[in-house]
Amino acid sequence: MIEIDLYSDTQTRPTKAMRKAMADAEVGDEQQGGDPSVNKLRERVADLLGKEDAVFLPSGTMCNQIALLVQVRPGEEVICDQTAHIVTSEGGGGAALAGAMFRPLQGPRGMYSAEQVEAAIRPDNRYCPKQVLLEVEQTSNQGGGAVWPTKRIAEVAAAARKHGLKTHMDGARLMNAVVASGVPVKEHVRDMDTVWLDLTKGLGCPVGAVLAGPKDVIKEAWRWKQRLGGSMRQAGIIAAAGIHALDHHIDRLAEDHANAKTLAKGLAEIPGIAVEPVETNIVFFDIGATGWKGHDFNAALQKQGVRVSVGNERRIRALTHLDIPAAAIPKALDVIRRVAIRAN
Ligand SMILES: *Cc1c(COP(=O)(O)O)cnc(C)c1O
Repeated sequence: MIEIDLYSDTQTRPTKAMRKAMADAEVGDEQQGGDPSVNKLRERVADLLGKEDAVFLPSGTMCNQIALLVQVRPGEEVICDQTAHIVTSEGGGGAALAGAMFRPLQGPRGMYSAEQVEAAIRPDNRYCPKQVLLEVEQTSNQGGGAVWPTKRIAEVAAAARKHGLKTHMDGARLMNAVVASGVPVKEHVRDMDTVWLDLTKGLGCPVGAVLAGPKDVIKEAWRWKQRLGGSMRQAGIIAAAGIHALDHHIDRLAEDHANAKTLAKGLAEIPGIAVEPVETNIVFFDIGATGWKGHDFNAALQKQGVRVSVGNERRIRALTHLDIPAAAIPKALDVIRRVAIRAN
């Protein structure tokens, strides 16, 4: 049995209080815009992010894909980091659905610079793909949960605007960035045309994400939601979880960040393990010098009730979240240490 699941912050289960909010939710026909709880969530998120409108979608992946479908035509190009989820982890959806080309930049810890954007701008002629969108992932998942400084976001967005590109933020863990940086959320997203929040990562909901942006873009997003079968019925049941999470699960992300730092500190003391810097709830570490290979290492951990995620043979990822109390960290460290040094 997996007792301590550090695989992802998607492994949270709805709390009792969240389930109660879900059970008590007012509901209607979401597909027709008639679900009061969904509408409340949409308004809450649009308000929080300072955007005109928002649409509730089943997943963050659908938020990214619909943002592309609305803002990118086949053959047009999107500038983003090479590690971006939209490139690496959505089944090639950007190409399969929107027909997008990607121009992946190599930013340290998933964060490229305005200079790199400038260098990636193509001449405006009939030979080149037209560049239409810049994408920022806050926090950068494969970048180790790194938080884009808001100044850097403003710089890359300014570079994009200068060349006529729109801007999109993958905000799967935006609220982690807000809590870790102490910088208000509106400053993170001010220069973004579209941005979405995942409800199923650190916020601890069972389903859902919300995409926000200008009214006309969100109107077209609704059309894609309908086309792709993302329109729902009495979705207030799940939207209520989102409202509950916005009320109760944002400030507590600080606990996940503190737990991640404790985990990183303990890992750094284990022979053969090298830890990447930790800013939020994501801890990447290298096990190469222990002699273990990623999947064998994870299998050995799982026999003792701890699960992590394997990036590659050496690079391991552990995430802290709502279902990982502080007391679980020393226990996890004890298991990881014994496995790493082959103590039994
Ligand atoms: C998880 C994740 C997504 C996709 O969200 P889902 O709700 O799982 O579809 C997109 N981007 C990043 C950075 C993520 O971590």
